[in-house]
Amino acid sequence: MDAIGEYYKLNNGVLIPRLGLGVYQSAEGQETETAVAYALEIGYRLIDTASVYGNEKDVGRAVKSSRIPREDLFVTTKVWNSDQGYDTTLAAFHTSLAKLAIDYIDLYLIHWPATETRLETWRALEELYRQGLCRSIGVSNFQVEHLEELLKNYEVVPAVNQVEFSPFLYQKRLLDYCSSKAIKLEAYSPLTQGKKLSNRVIIRLANKYGRTPAQILIRWALQHELVVIPKSVHRRRIKENFEVSDFEIAAGDMARLDKLDSGFRACWDPTGLP
Ligand code: NDP
Repeated sequence: MDAIGEYYKLNNGVLIPRLGLGVYQSAEGQETETAVAYALEIGYRLIDTASVYGNEKDVGRAVKSSRIPREDLFVTTKVWNSDQGYDTTLAAFHTSLAKLAIDYIDLYLIHWPATETRLETWRALEELYRQGLCRSIGVSNFQVEHLEELLKNYEVVPAVNQVEFSPFLYQKRLLDYCSSKAIKLEAYSPLTQGKKLSNRVIIRLANKYGRTPAQILIRWALQHELVVIPKSVHRRRIKENFEVSDFEIAAGDMARLDKLDSGFRACWDPTGLP
C-alpha cells in the first residue's frame, strides 16, 4: 500500500490489514454481498461485520465466491449484548461461524462493554482463542476503565479495541493508553457516517491535496496508526476509500485536523458506563 506497509502486527503477532470495509447498515442480502465482493475484487482484505448487523451470511457468500485463499482474508465479527455471558457467547460464536461459513474468525470482538456480563464474555473469548477458533480476540467501545478492569482480571490482553474515532472525536487519552498496552485501536465511523464531510477545514484540505473529504479522514486515521473500516455500498466510494496510499498529510495539517475534536459522535456513547 505505501511505505509503512499494508498491515499492522497485533500484540500476538497476527497481521491485520490497516484498511477494511465496514458493513454496518449494509442491507441483508444482495446489497452486502455485492459490496463485499467488489471490495475484495479491488484489494480490500479485511471485512468488519457483527452478528447484530444481520448480514454475516452475505459476507460469507462474498468471501466464498471471491476464491481468495482464506489465509489472505481477515474477517471480524462481534458478540452482541443479548448473547453476552459465558455459555451464550460460545453459542453465539458458533452461530456466527456457521453463518459466515468459515472455519475460524480472525478477530472476534465484544461489541459493547455490557456492565453485568462483559467479564464472563471475555472468559469465553479466551476459551475460543485457546481452542484456535479465533486468531485474535478484542473488544469494542471499551473505555480506559473497562480495559483496566479486564487487564486486572484476565490473562489475554485484547489485541484490538474498536471505537469511534475521527478528527471530530480525537480520543487521544484512549489512543495513548491502548498504545501503552499494545492494544491496537480500530476506528469505526471514520467518515462520521457522512455527517462532517462538508466541514470547511476538511474541504480546504481535500482541495489542497487534490483528494476527497473521505480520503482525508481515512488518511488522517492511518497516519495515527489506526486500523480504519469505512463503510460504503457504492462501488465508486468503496474504491475511493481504498485509494489513500499515494499521498501524505503534512504534520501541520495533521495538527489542524486533531484540533477539530469537539467530542462529536455519529454513533453511540460508551463513556461513563459502569
Ligand atoms: P462511516 O463513517 O464509515 O460512514 C458510512 C457512511 O458514509 C455511509 O452513509 C456511506 O454511504 C457514506 N460514505 C462512504 N464512503 C463515502 C465517500 N467516499 N463519500 C461520501 N460518503 C461516503 O460509518 P459506519 O458507522 O458505517 O462505520 C464504519 C464501520 O465501522 C461500520 O460499517 C461497522 O463495520 C463499524 N462500526 C462499529 C461499531 C461498533 O460499535 N463496534 C459502531 C459503528 C460502526 P453509502 O454506503 O451510501 O456509500
